[in-house]
Amino acid sequence: MKRRSFIKTGAAGLVAPTALISNDKKPIKNRVGKPTVISTWNHGLLANDAAMAVLRKNGSALDAVEAGVRVPEADPKSQSVGYGGRPDEDGHVTLDACIMDSAGNAGAVAFLRDIKHPISVARKVMERTDHVMLVGEGAKKFALAHSFKEENLLTDKSREEWLRWKEDHSIKDTWGPNEDHDTISTLAIDNKGDLAGACTTSGIAYKIHGRVGDSPLIGAGMYVDNDIGAVGATGKGEEVIKTCGSFLVVELMRQGYSAMDACREAVQRIIQKHAKKVKFQIAYIALRKDGKIGYAGINDGFQYALYKDNQNKLYDVKGIG
Ligand code: ASP
Repeated sequence: MKRRSFIKTGAAGLVAPTALISNDKKPIKNRVGKPTVISTWNHGLLANDAAMAVLRKNGSALDAVEAGVRVPEADPKSQSVGYGGRPDEDGHVTLDACIMDSAGNAGAVAFLRDIKHPISVARKVMERTDHVMLVGEGAKKFALAHSFKEENLLTDKSREEWLRWKEDHSIKDTWGPNEDHDTISTLAIDNKGDLAGACTTSGIAYKIHGRVGDSPLIGAGMYVDNDIGAVGATGKGEEVIKTCGSFLVVELMRQGYSAMDACREAVQRIIQKHAKKVKFQIAYIALRKDGKIGYAGINDGFQYALYKDNQNKLYDVKGIG
């Protein structure tokens, strides 16, 4: 059939497109006028405070999550995010981040060096370009062109720990980090009931130079669907990438899973792929459109911070692995 005649006859016989996923579930109700923030790990408490300060002034969820994660990005005590983050095997601090708004816009940077606030560079990518992700030298060039300051992110503490690690290539010694992964993901609902998410990290400590984890990957480290909910991940990024983790949790919620069950199912799928007890950690947090939250981790030790109904609290999560 010639293309012209196909268009002619084909148009007459067109069948209305069917939804790929039957979406007969009731829409999830908006949480309006009750701003809520959830973040990973204990640095999530300070991130939540900063995010809630924005939401209280009627700010957007997007402004809130950016303001929130900028706190650990600037804090040298958070050695897994931004300034003071643990370096890669060559001693370079390389940062990954992504951000997503309620309209489904997204921006990300990966393998970015010498810029303290990768989340704000990611937001610039989202707002000033029609790309989603910039990496490495290109991301840095873009950041400098947009007046971000170049600075050394390797603190003495992180440099000394890295030098000790180089002596025997182990993080299991008493001097070493207890946890080498503590990415911050922050998810928020603003007064209008709109959602946004941000995720930022220096990645796995002493990673191979050039390694990029899940955190800057939309759908892996973080995902937002304003009709359904927002999800963030932390832990061994490779496993999150292989299961499209955050997107999976959102899609499970779309299919009617509670936020909690969706997080547990995504974690279970990773556990099932490994015959033996899983030693690494993966954890998810989820914030459904109606304000219901979910969380799950493979192993004990994961914590999340929730700011809801005027209370900002840290919670321990028992592993399901
Ligand atoms: N997910 C991060 C990564 O794989 C690590 C973390 O959660 O800290 O880079």
